[in-house]
Amino acid sequence: DEILYTVKIEHELSEVSFSTWLKPLTVHSIQENTVYILVPSQQMGLNYISKKYTLPIKVAIAEITGRNYDIEFILPDQAQSIEAAQKPAASSLNESIERANLNPKYTFDTFVVGGNNNFAHAASLAVAESPGEMYNPLFIYGGVGLGKTHLMHSIAHFILERNPETRVLYVTSEAFTNELIEAIRNGNNTAMTKFREKYRNIDVLLIDDIQFIIGKESTQEEFFHTFNDLHGNKKQIIISSDKPPKEMATLEGRLRSRFEWGLIADISSPDYETRMAILRKKEELDGYTIDDEVIKYIATNIKSNIRELEGALNKLMAFSNLEKREINVALAEEALKDIISPDEKKEITPQLIIDIVAEHFHIKPEDIKGNKRNSEIVLPRQIAMYLCRDMTETPLKAIGNLMGKRDHTTIIHGAEKITKEIEKSDTMRNTIEVLKKKISPS
Ligand code: ADP
Ligand code: MG
Repeated sequence: DEILYTVKIEHELSEVSFSTWLKPLTVHSIQENTVYILVPSQQMGLNYISKKYTLPIKVAIAEITGRNYDIEFILPDQAQSIEAAQKPAASSLNESIERANLNPKYTFDTFVVGGNNNFAHAASLAVAESPGEMYNPLFIYGGVGLGKTHLMHSIAHFILERNPETRVLYVTSEAFTNELIEAIRNGNNTAMTKFREKYRNIDVLLIDDIQFIIGKESTQEEFFHTFNDLHGNKKQIIISSDKPPKEMATLEGRLRSRFEWGLIADISSPDYETRMAILRKKEELDGYTIDDEVIKYIATNIKSNIRELEGALNKLMAFSNLEKREINVALAEEALKDIISPDEKKEITPQLIIDIVAEHFHIKPEDIKGNKRNSEIVLPRQIAMYLCRDMTETPLKAIGNLMGKRDHTTIIHGAEKITKEIEKSDTMRNTIEVLKKKISPS
């Protein structure tokens, strides 16, 4: 509408020509550099409109959007075919994103570049632009919560957006291990063949937190072959880890040397400016505004980890919503007193365990504390109980209280279930091991 009125005013059109020619038009869609404008019927004289109004509309659009678009007038039946052409593309992109195991939020657009990650970011972009050609493998390392996973997903999104047909697969090394354990346990060749087909018939493999395969001989062995197969066929491999290859003490030598074949990039802790920029970006993405002083307070006090930085903001928002209080520095101090503590060393608390378990299983911490009974929640809840009992000195009663006012016998029961499960199942043992390392990185 704004476009059309701009045209009307600038060209001093009479009310009659405006309502005859322009008013019925609507913007159908925008694709790359073209704005498609729908002419509701053939009778309207598409040729006339296009001759007379293409330029004025173009100018008006450029004025309003600041971009130079081409414009094309279309009739309803063309509109349908455009929609049809767009649809499969869109849905197949979504399907590809799902098949690749990607978080839709982790893209280059939402990734803030700062001094701590600019090299890793540039390397990731280069790989995303020409997968398999330049740096293979790309090895990204850095501490917990600094953006490795986000960056890996960004590469995958970028590749799929350019070509949704590319076979991209993101897995954690834990998932890789568990699938391998299952395939071996199945004991037949088809299971193993399926596993190999899955990991070798792809164009881009992203394997996250490779440190968790250290010490697992058969997994290292299988991954070695997967790596060789893909690399030999010029397929892109992207690996993340908490340490550079040379510091991965018990990593098999032949794997270590392969990890060093390509490009190694690190991500370190963000400086103050980058922390501010990340908080502002999150504000923008979540659609709220917070007083600058509060943002500064958080950025000053939470230094090492971006996940905690975001967590602090979430916690503050939740706190203010629940208590119906305005967000200011005083409220931030109160809401964040557990997170912002004078001693830097992180204590292992039940809350930390709950947060990490929830993130690991892609559920919310509240779900673990809550009462839902579906298996996607019950199992992580029992795992959290087990880990709280095992890794903290917190009395069972207090753990129970934190976990939605449950009785201490419920905690014992949950923890025992997991203890039994660990004896029975290699997958569970692996998962617990991975979680313990996430909670208490060496
Ligand atoms: P890692 O895999 O290194 O443990 P993640 O990639 O999971 O860390 O990042 C933790 C959180 O911090 C995620 O929510 C991620 O979106 C966010 N994050 C990390 N780095 C950035 C960044 N540079 N810009 C924006 N968000 C970031
Ligand atoms: Mg990660």
